[in-house]
Amino acid sequence: MTITGSLLVAGAEKRGSNAEFYGLEAVTGKPLPTSFGGASVEDVELAAQHAWEAFASYREADPKIRAGFLEMIAQEIESIGDELILRAIAETGLTRGRLEGERARTTLQLRLFAKEVRDGRFQELRFDVGDPSRKPVPKPDLRLRNVPLGPVVVFGASNFPLAFSVAGGDTASALAAGCPVIVKAHSAHPGTSELVGRALQRAVSNTGLHPGVFALLFDSGFEVGQKLVADRRIRAVGFTGSRRGGTALMEIARRRKQPIPVYAEMSSINPVVLFPGALKDRAAHIASDFVTSLVLGAGQFCTNPGLVLAVECEGLEVFIRKAAELLPDVGAQAMLTPSIAKAYHEGVAKLRRHPDVRTVASGRSGGELEGSAALFDTSARAFLADHQLQEEVFGAAGLVVRCKDIAELERVLDEVEGQLTVSLHVTGEDEAEARRLVPKLEMLAGRLLVNGFGTGVEVSPAMVHGGPYPATADGRSTSVGTMAIYRFLRPVSYQDFTDALLPEPLREATCS
Ligand code: NAP
Repeated sequence: MTITGSLLVAGAEKRGSNAEFYGLEAVTGKPLPTSFGGASVEDVELAAQHAWEAFASYREADPKIRAGFLEMIAQEIESIGDELILRAIAETGLTRGRLEGERARTTLQLRLFAKEVRDGRFQELRFDVGDPSRKPVPKPDLRLRNVPLGPVVVFGASNFPLAFSVAGGDTASALAAGCPVIVKAHSAHPGTSELVGRALQRAVSNTGLHPGVFALLFDSGFEVGQKLVADRRIRAVGFTGSRRGGTALMEIARRRKQPIPVYAEMSSINPVVLFPGALKDRAAHIASDFVTSLVLGAGQFCTNPGLVLAVECEGLEVFIRKAAELLPDVGAQAMLTPSIAKAYHEGVAKLRRHPDVRTVASGRSGGELEGSAALFDTSARAFLADHQLQEEVFGAAGLVVRCKDIAELERVLDEVEGQLTVSLHVTGEDEAEARRLVPKLEMLAGRLLVNGFGTGVEVSPAMVHGGPYPATADGRSTSVGTMAIYRFLRPVSYQDFTDALLPEPLREATCS
């Protein structure tokens, strides 16, 4: 398959006439073959109009057809073969193992959503039969179902070039819900995006769906994404990236004549609370698992454990000593983009310069485009006094906060912003104290873990990958797992409809 740098719109390919750009090789920063043409205002208009027109038929498509479509996307992605993995390695610097795993996760997600669509429960059909003889007023006949929101714009994530990009979780859940999708490819992996986009376009065509069900647009700047979010035909947004980018898009969506939901996943430092009993029992073991999680994928995971909280004790010293022993052996790793590498170096330098922060240990140093792991510690007092200490440093950097007692540790938890995950490390003797904290932690994060770390997000019906702001824009939902479909649906109630007027799933034959 050849990468041509074309936009994929309205069932065809089209060279974008706006600013040309190249995918960069992550390891060297050098341009990779084939330039990409940015989309113009006319391309945005074409994609939005086609998505809107496609919505009429796609929303009503038989669930079996929609499910088959999702499965076909998975099949088409698999059929690309090694070309996809090689291009993704070049553009992201991620390892083959990681990318093959991510491809498997991407196709699993698509197949899981296909099952969800066939199962049909997401429609939430409800029948509340009327009673004309009820006194003093007759009871109306009410039936309810979920309907899709309309065309969705998805921003591909830099850190998940497959599982959270063109055919990733946001796209799969929106398509499953019955919403056409326009993807704004991440400029960090345009070639990977095109290959997957072509697979998706083939699946649209093979299934005989309206070609507007899917479009892929490129842009090396922000104009295309902003125009799409502002477009009246777009009814929801899926985004993974920076807090600045996410909040900018939320603001555009809020200022629209008809504001729309933006499901933005932005920043999270994923606190890890080490209880005294666990530290006494297995501090070195926890430290070793912590370092593995911290440096995984150069730390470029939204669930990376960036903050460790513990009450001062001998076990905490053992934990810190063990982490300090392991980190210097960790090699520097290529980061996803030059700007992510720059932001990481700046964040680490800021921590090193901070008068109340001590550098515990660092990984092996590397080049400008690489990230070296770093671990710091500070006191709870200093952490509470400086809000900047809880800003996400995207990469393999962690901060241990030493607390005087459990009351101080709780004050830190009260001050920490919304998170994707909180991990608790406990033994039996810690359980009563940990149990007391659970209601507080439920207010803080979307996923609570015991004796583990948040990296490695299971795709499951019971998964929540979300959390209060700024972890996400809307903590009432998840972007991983089958529950993600509900982000792109809304309930409609049908009162006193005749059978002929009712949508098919709500008719008498279904009800009785
Ligand atoms: P980003 O800069 O927010 O970019 C994400 C996507 O949004 C890209 O397609 C980007 O366009 C677009 N975009 C960004 N700002 C925009 C704006 N103001 N208006 C319209 N579109 C906008 O995120 P990133 O490139 O993935 O990484 C940058 C930083 O984001 C990282 O250093 C890290 O702090 C954070 N991040 C966090 C997570 C997480 O899950 N918590 C994941 C990834 C990144 P372009 O393609 O043209 O840049």
